[in-house]
Amino acid sequence: MDIRPVFPNFQRPVLIAGPCSAETEAQVLSTAHALAEQDIDLFRAGIWKPRTRPDSFEGVGAKGLAWLRRVKEETGLKVTTEVANANHVYEALKYGIDVLWVGARTTVNPFSVQEIADALRGADVPVLVKNPINPDLKLWMGAIERLYKAGITRLAAIHRGFSYFGETRYRNVPRWQIPLELKRHFPDMQLICDNSHICGRRDLLLEVAQKALDLNFDGLMTEVHPTPDKAWSDATQQLTPVDFVHMVDQLVVRQPTTDDTDFLETLDNLRHQIDELDEELFQILGQRMQVAERIGLYKRRNNISIFQPHRWAQIIEKAVIKGRQWGLSREFVEVLFKAIHDESINHQERVMKAANNELNVER
Ligand code: PEP
Ligand code: MN
Repeated sequence: MDIRPVFPNFQRPVLIAGPCSAETEAQVLSTAHALAEQDIDLFRAGIWKPRTRPDSFEGVGAKGLAWLRRVKEETGLKVTTEVANANHVYEALKYGIDVLWVGARTTVNPFSVQEIADALRGADVPVLVKNPINPDLKLWMGAIERLYKAGITRLAAIHRGFSYFGETRYRNVPRWQIPLELKRHFPDMQLICDNSHICGRRDLLLEVAQKALDLNFDGLMTEVHPTPDKAWSDATQQLTPVDFVHMVDQLVVRQPTTDDTDFLETLDNLRHQIDELDEELFQILGQRMQVAERIGLYKRRNNISIFQPHRWAQIIEKAVIKGRQWGLSREFVEVLFKAIHDESINHQERVMKAANNELNVER
């Protein structure tokens, strides 16, 4: 795939900012004028709002498109809005919206994405594709591929986090490995972090934006509103234009790479150490599985079941304490040991099944 940049000749970070929703013409224009002074790359405002619950504000609809056109005329900013069906696409193109975005609740549905892709056939407009609400990399890739096949080659991805049932400090958990995997599949595609929808609250926005830049994201999409607490949607996560500028000013933008030979040598050395440690990790994991297989055979011979809840609880408990001594978080240790334990069970099962088959042959 030959994906072209949505933001050519950009300076990192690309900045996309504007209100969650267009509410009134005055609100849209005042936000846009404040942001135009800050040299942002793209002004955002939702016109059609996909709300989780039916009684929330669902957007002003097509009349907001004229407000966005006025933003373009008065400020010179390029504008973007979310499209969720073919009709949205036709309306947005009619009003000269510069960039379209596909929202998380749309990316999740291949029928809707295909409908949008078909409506876009023949149009030369860039599209930003948010990740689906569920952590499914293939669904995200699929949406990008559907648009590409319809002739849309200026494409970028927006990481806005993933739904999670349970307590978390985020509104949508970031699961950074998923956007990084996407980048591995589509190395030429620009990657934007929507820190507003990941955080759901203002106090985390800077931390998440910085993390995205440190992971080499190309830019940010942040919700900005003149009076955030009074916003008709997503009030707890929006920033005033002044606070937005303050957030951007505090970001440390590091270079993706350098020609400095001293730096490169030191980095090479450290990476070599990492590679050696990884090698040891594989050896140890392989040996651990061999012991698990011996246990499997032993249990088989003595007719004992594979899973022993008491033993498993002990392993996890010890591992969390040990992990803490090495500065490893409980979250990480639990995920790691669950994965190791699953693999051990698979190995034990395999040797038990093999032993069963042998017995059957003997009979
Ligand atoms: C939005 O950007 O306001 C929005 C609705 O986002 P998402 O699709 O990420 O929920
Ligand atoms: Mn929003």
